[in-house]
Amino acid sequence: MSGRRPVLVTGAGGFIGGHLVARLREDPDLQVRAVDVKPVGQWYQQFPDVENMVLDLQEIDACRKACEGMLDVYNLAADMGGMGFIENNKALCMLSVLINTHLLQAANAAGVERYFFASSACVYAADKQVSEDVEPLRESDAYPALPEDGYGWEKLFSERMCRHFSEDFGLQTRVARFHNVYGPHGTWDGGREKAPAAVARKVLHAAATDGTSIEIWGDGKQTRSFMYIDDCLDGIRKIMDSDIEEPINLGSDELVTINQLVDIVEGIVGVELERDYNLSAPKGVNGRNSDNTMIQERLGWAPSIKLADGMQLTCDWIKGEYEAQNRSE
Ligand code: NAD
Repeated sequence: MSGRRPVLVTGAGGFIGGHLVARLREDPDLQVRAVDVKPVGQWYQQFPDVENMVLDLQEIDACRKACEGMLDVYNLAADMGGMGFIENNKALCMLSVLINTHLLQAANAAGVERYFFASSACVYAADKQVSEDVEPLRESDAYPALPEDGYGWEKLFSERMCRHFSEDFGLQTRVARFHNVYGPHGTWDGGREKAPAAVARKVLHAAATDGTSIEIWGDGKQTRSFMYIDDCLDGIRKIMDSDIEEPINLGSDELVTINQLVDIVEGIVGVELERDYNLSAPKGVNGRNSDNTMIQERLGWAPSIKLADGMQLTCDWIKGEYEAQNRSE
């Protein structure tokens, strides 16, 4: 490789990994290797000027190949999706522990200097998220442990494994707990999409077909915060470059109800629809927000992109994808 610092991005065919590759390849000091289990043709973003590899990182040998010669690893590979996926695929979610275990082992053996792990707000204890009128979650709220079943337990376990690889083997690890990331170039249909993309698709579809109503999962009063992808990318780089050794929130603290998210999307699309509340659909916890005290204190920075601005860009992209899909059908 050149004199540039070799960095590995896993999950590079996915939403956040694809954006991270796009961002890192612009840095002239870095040489990027991008890895995903999906064939390159199915990656959300593909860059011929980086090294693209198709590997199943649940396998230790694949992790060894991926880590060979690397100094930084950004691990964004996981079998995941929105609530509809993670509530119905707990075993698949927990099998991502194979990725995280084998990648840590391979990174350590390959002499990787710094390792970033994408954790999730799903590690937070369920009993601290029972009310819509939620107290923002502080990092310490992950314990005593009562995370989201399946997906959240895997993330919490893998966070601890990062910590112990640091303590026992000296591998520098950085762990960010992402809170709902959204933006263009991500899953917007098919069952793994998250609320912002799902709402955008439903509203766009209703507008395109003269529909009068959309289905909302839950009663619409659940509260959440949503982080636009550009804030997520800035945060990943800042946390990776920092001396923050413990897990840290990376999320917006602009709290909205799902109904308010729908209002924003309706405003962007220019429609007003009836809402059919499906109370038996997966809806996750009642309320969740990110407490950004620690990230402000440690980095002097926190995500700040307004939901209305990020959703405008996201809706524009999903509209293009929706229209292209309809044309090809
Ligand atoms: P994504 O599903 O778009 O991307 C994940 C990628 O990992 C996919 O392209 C998938 O093919 C790949 N992958 C899965 N199994 C693999 C394997 N065995 N080997 C190699 N690649 C494999 O998801 P995303 O939204 O980009 O999420 C990236 C990371 O951030 C994940 O760890 C996720 O748990 C975490 N996270 C995301 C959010 C969010 O809101 N998007 C929130 C919290 C945490």
